[in-house]
Amino acid sequence: MEISVREALRRPGEMIPFHLEFSLDPMTVHADPVSFPGQLVLDGFSMGLEEDEETVLLSGTLSFRWESVCARCAEKAEGENLVEFQEEFGRVKDDRYPDRYLFAGETLQLDDLVSDQILMDLPIRFLCREDCQGLCPVCGCNLNREQCDCDRSGGSSPFDVLKNLHLDDE
Ligand SMILES: [Zn+2]
Ligand SMILES: [Zn+2]
Repeated sequence: MEISVREALRRPGEMIPFHLEFSLDPMTVHADPVSFPGQLVLDGFSMGLEEDEETVLLSGTLSFRWESVCARCAEKAEGENLVEFQEEFGRVKDDRYPDRYLFAGETLQLDDLVSDQILMDLPIRFLCREDCQGLCPVCGCNLNREQCDCDRSGGSSPFDVLKNLHLDDE
């Protein structure tokens, strides 16, 4: 996805609105597949910062829905996020601004910005709900829906918690 900054470059200091809706292919985040149902919406303003047409500031919001797999019970995890961003685009690489994106001509390519914002905003772990009880480690039943008679007493020791953390990191 891209936007024209022709107006922003011609009228530095003025906020030029933009609005984009687009779909996005699934990506892999922390080794989990994440898909994006529906349209993502990017809304905001571009502004040329200097008379020399070298820098454009882009600010706005990105809203998106996502779907993945719950880290505890393996059922669907989903959410709807709204991210605010303010980023700088420069024509040339400048070590004083290592975080800024580059652009050429009168067009900003927004693919990197969009995936960066999504990666920063997605939860560290995908859960179907905050208090998901996960699966019984003994019989594998989904503890959100069923109760079993398994002896899970080991699960309450702090060592098992550590063990589970390790498993999640793999
Ligand atoms: Zn779950
Ligand atoms: Zn069980």
